[in-house]
Amino acid sequence: MMDTMVLKFGGSSVADNEKLKLVADKIIKIKNKKYNIVVVVSAQGKTTDKLISEAKELSNEVKDREMDALLSIGEQITTAKLSILLNEMGYKAISLTGWQAGIYTDNTNQNATIKHINLSRINKELEEGKIVIIAGFQGINENMDVTTLGRGGSDTTAVALSAALNAKKCYIFSDVDGIYTTDPNKYNNVKKLPELSYEEMHEMSSEGAKVLHNRCIEIGEKFKIPIIAESTFNDNSGTVISDIIEENTIKSIVKSETSRISIIGNGIIRNVKAIKNLINIIEREKLEMLELLILENKIVITFKAVVDNRIVDRIQEELINVS
Ligand code: ASP
Ligand code: MG
Repeated sequence: MMDTMVLKFGGSSVADNEKLKLVADKIIKIKNKKYNIVVVVSAQGKTTDKLISEAKELSNEVKDREMDALLSIGEQITTAKLSILLNEMGYKAISLTGWQAGIYTDNTNQNATIKHINLSRINKELEEGKIVIIAGFQGINENMDVTTLGRGGSDTTAVALSAALNAKKCYIFSDVDGIYTTDPNKYNNVKKLPELSYEEMHEMSSEGAKVLHNRCIEIGEKFKIPIIAESTFNDNSGTVISDIIEENTIKSIVKSETSRISIIGNGIIRNVKAIKNLINIIEREKLEMLELLILENKIVITFKAVVDNRIVDRIQEELINVS
């Protein structure tokens, strides 16, 4: 039996025909290493946002069931186009909707939870040597109605399929080449993290870093699926999220919209040097704190007023870049 790899491509990676060609090249490269390939795709570019606003133009009270019926089409367009392209390139591929792929969910339209996956169709197609391309973010409930998993839910589809298929790894491809200590679009001196534990990733998401769909981390951790965040558009090594626990290394700073900053890293509570440096910055910058929480894996500070982004740069320099 060949090992299975699950490859997920986000909306900006599949935005147009040119990008789909790059996606196809990436898939073929991995396929040629002799793996069974299951691909999960998002809707193209901003399709989901566009469909939501079009529906809202029609009605102020769109029923969740109908919104799901509409939004699920976005992902299906991508699956069909990618399959057409791969077949044209000489590779056997097939597109499947969530229900064709056997993804069963509960009845919560717009925020459904995957209950179980019936793999018979996927396995049959893999046995025939096909690349199986599955619509992310969607499933079917017991009434045979289409459901969606909540915004960003294709990540969860990919990791859930990896668990069900006992896949070796789950790759999450996007337009960034990994997970950074903090938002690379906003701050200087950011560092790409080669590895991260599930728990740290979970803390980052719950403190507000918009990286991966939160539920996909829970599934990854439960079924021990290594999740690898990489770029669709280059071959740089990305970030591996797995069980690895590295003590005392600070991984991330998340600044919320409000006056809160969180610093995340396994065992941060024992990192005396980092805590000292942090207190130094706060004193030097004359910042007034309302609350300071030092926990096993994170420090959360609530300030009296909203703090400048410059403070995040300072923390980055004096805590992360030295540890
Ligand atoms: N297309 C959906 C969204 O935009 C799901 C996803 O991309 O993961 O939220
Ligand atoms: Mg996403």
